[in-house]
Amino acid sequence: MPPHPKKKHSHKTQGGRNAHNAISAASSGECPQCHRAKLSHRVCRHCGYYNGREVIPVEAPTAE
Ligand SMILES: [Zn+2]
Repeated sequence: MPPHPKKKHSHKTQGGRNAHNAISAASSGECPQCHRAKLSHRVCRHCGYYNGREVIPVEAPTAE
């Protein structure tokens, strides 16, 4: 038999532990390049810029 908890945890114990598990919304900011809403610490989805340079090429919607 594997090791097993000796006592059942109460709902109070469970709740106290889970009190630290709340998730918060991702912090959003503004892109300094195109000034549209973007998530901070992420590459801008609109212009592909991060930290003042283009890191991902922006695909042209009408190409091909
Ligand atoms: Zn941008």
